[in-house]
Amino acid sequence: MKIHEYQAKKILRGFGIATPSGIPCFSADEAVEAARKLNGGSWVVKAQIHAGGRGKGGGVKVAKSLDEVKQFAGKILGMTLVTHQTGPQGQVVRRLLIERAADIGTELYAGLVVDRGSRSVCLMASSEGGMDIEEVATRTPEKIHKAFIDPLTGLAEQDAAGIARKIGIPEPAIAEAAALLQGLYQAFDDTDASLVEINPLILTADDHIVALDAKMSFDDNALFRHPEIAALRDLDEEDPAEIEASEHDLSYVSLDGNIGCLVNGAGLAMATMDIIKLYGGNPANFLDVGGGATAAKVAEAFKLMLRNPRLEAILVNIFGGIMKCDVIAEGVVAAAREVKLNVPLVVRLEGTNVDLGKRILAESALPIISATNMADAAEKAVRAAGSASTSVGGV
Ligand code: GDP
Ligand code: MG
Repeated sequence: MKIHEYQAKKILRGFGIATPSGIPCFSADEAVEAARKLNGGSWVVKAQIHAGGRGKGGGVKVAKSLDEVKQFAGKILGMTLVTHQTGPQGQVVRRLLIERAADIGTELYAGLVVDRGSRSVCLMASSEGGMDIEEVATRTPEKIHKAFIDPLTGLAEQDAAGIARKIGIPEPAIAEAAALLQGLYQAFDDTDASLVEINPLILTADDHIVALDAKMSFDDNALFRHPEIAALRDLDEEDPAEIEASEHDLSYVSLDGNIGCLVNGAGLAMATMDIIKLYGGNPANFLDVGGGATAAKVAEAFKLMLRNPRLEAILVNIFGGIMKCDVIAEGVVAAAREVKLNVPLVVRLEGTNVDLGKRILAESALPIISATNMADAAEKAVRAAGSASTSVGGV
């Protein structure tokens, strides 16, 4: 789960991390009021969306007067901000953060991620902050310094200080920088985060270290331990199909292809997406209906896929173990009757009650394309999607 910058900064302040003073706002008037409360002569008006790269997209503006605060706030609120992390459709801005503008000396970078390879948390830091860190990693990887943190001991002060020196922090600020990096690790560990990223981490003109931006993501499976973090979820920032899927306890991830996949089991769902790709197609979603799904749940899953305007074919791939093939068949038939099935449907069933399942599908009189195995199913789905797209004009 992701949260907004202002929420991440609040959490980080609880771990002793210095951030600019700021107030979240929902209107231009509130923004002016916030700037007034914060005092000072210049402020930053920052779009709050769950994506980075806002600065380049026009979502971060420095205002030199209250009039400018109002003007920028009015412009940014409601805009569809497109950044390299939002995708081409962008994200509508509904919240702002007003901060006192900081006096930037140098822009640095600090981030923490779970590193599965080393089974530890990796601290990454760089002197090249404020820009695309991905670009720094590609072009000048030697400018990214890493420390792998043993979860049993945490981040030792000397290791934090070592990293701080490598990214060019001057000696008088080393202790402060080391304490900040230790605080970041503590925050990461205590909140079950999967990512903490400060870009830029700044060195002010008077040698203090401040987190000017903050991004945090959390491990969904650990959220039950942090109800206060779970409460920060902003549904406006999430894919409506994925929200609805989670309400029905379905594992659903939207993708940008045109072949809907309804599968039982995460592993089989991944394999199904792979084989669709192998036959030259593109999956429209990942969908695992789980082992013990009811016909009603399968019907919900089916409806969810059918709402996707890009959908050109559906591939149902079921290996009935705990899940019985007749239950899947009943769900497919119920959903197809309820919602107009306007794309070809390829079904591959195998396992428990397969004959009964096939009979239910056959007796439904739905125009189902049966497949004998996974390869056959993928090939038929890719072909069906291809002919669907030509029949509607090749769009
Ligand atoms: P992002 O583009 O979504 O990563 O948003 P950031 O919070 O990182 O802001 C983008 C850029 O805006 C930063 O790299 C800074 O250069 C600039 N910026 C942000 N806050 C301030 C500020 O308080 N003062 C000044 N002068 N620039 C700022
Ligand atoms: Mg940033």
